Amino acid sequence: MKITFLGTAAANAFPEAFCACANCQSARRLGGPSLRKRSAALINDDLLIDLGPDIMAASQMHNISLVNVQHCLQTHPHSDHLDPSHFESRSPGFGVVGAPLLNFYASRETLARAAQTFERDIAGYSLLSPEAEKNLNLKIHPIEPFVPFMAGPYRVTAVPANHAPRMGAMLYAVEANGRCIFYGTDTDALPEAAWEAFGRLRLRFDLVVLDHTYGQNKQASDHMSAGQVVEHFARMRGEGLLAPGARTFATHIAHDANPAHPELVELARQRGYEVAHDGLTLEL
Ligand SMILES: [Zn+2]
Ligand SMILES: [Zn+2]
Ligand SMILES: [Zn+2]
Repeated sequence: MKITFLGTAAANAFPEAFCACANCQSARRLGGPSLRKRSAALINDDLLIDLGPDIMAASQMHNISLVNVQHCLQTHPHSDHLDPSHFESRSPGFGVVGAPLLNFYASRETLARAAQTFERDIAGYSLLSPEAEKNLNLKIHPIEPFVPFMAGPYRVTAVPANHAPRMGAMLYAVEANGRCIFYGTDTDALPEAAWEAFGRLRLRFDLVVLDHTYGQNKQASDHMSAGQVVEHFARMRGEGLLAPGARTFATHIAHDANPAHPELVELARQRGYEVAHDGLTLEL
């Protein structure tokens, strides 16, 4: 299994275009992996995690085609993870040729939010209608937490995030070919129900990617800090949730709490994990 990070920033890009903070200035000067777009990821070439606002830019900048994407797991409807205009822009009505049917998986709460935005601001009809599925070359799949489902060749388990109350935010474990990825953003400390489910469903991760929004100098209630990331990886290791040789990465990096990439990589190395960057591909 392969994962490519299309974006690794928090709600602001990093550098945030309007920001003159030291971290943004440093990222602008350094370029390369210090330039982060809003978070999304691609597994192999056919499963997208989050129909995010920057996936078109990521595709162009990193020469990553999304032509073969047949499945999209949506974490939640926050605008740094979901741009519903992409439902239209990838449709035959917008001249798109050769795109396969897109199977879109999300919680009912996330689907309701997406449908509201889509109808009100974009298309004038509901995303959850037969008309939408026909016009948009789309199949909507409401998902439930802790109930594994198949998305093509992938066995997917959604785990509720500790984030965005009443929006049905989900984190995803994705298994294929004997490998398992846990994609864990956006979230504050994982709910105990998630830990119980990891054990009950016998999930064992080859790669864990966690929310690192608040870095080392900020704490709030909807995302994680570096200290919490360290604690989570330690608990996963302690509970036998990491496969031999498993890799642990931070993502969803906010400009106002994390230094530019090289310095962040060094801080993370000292704490025992790695830092994702836009365009990074990992083979598992
Ligand atoms: Zn986010
Ligand atoms: Zn900044
Ligand atoms: Zn969010």
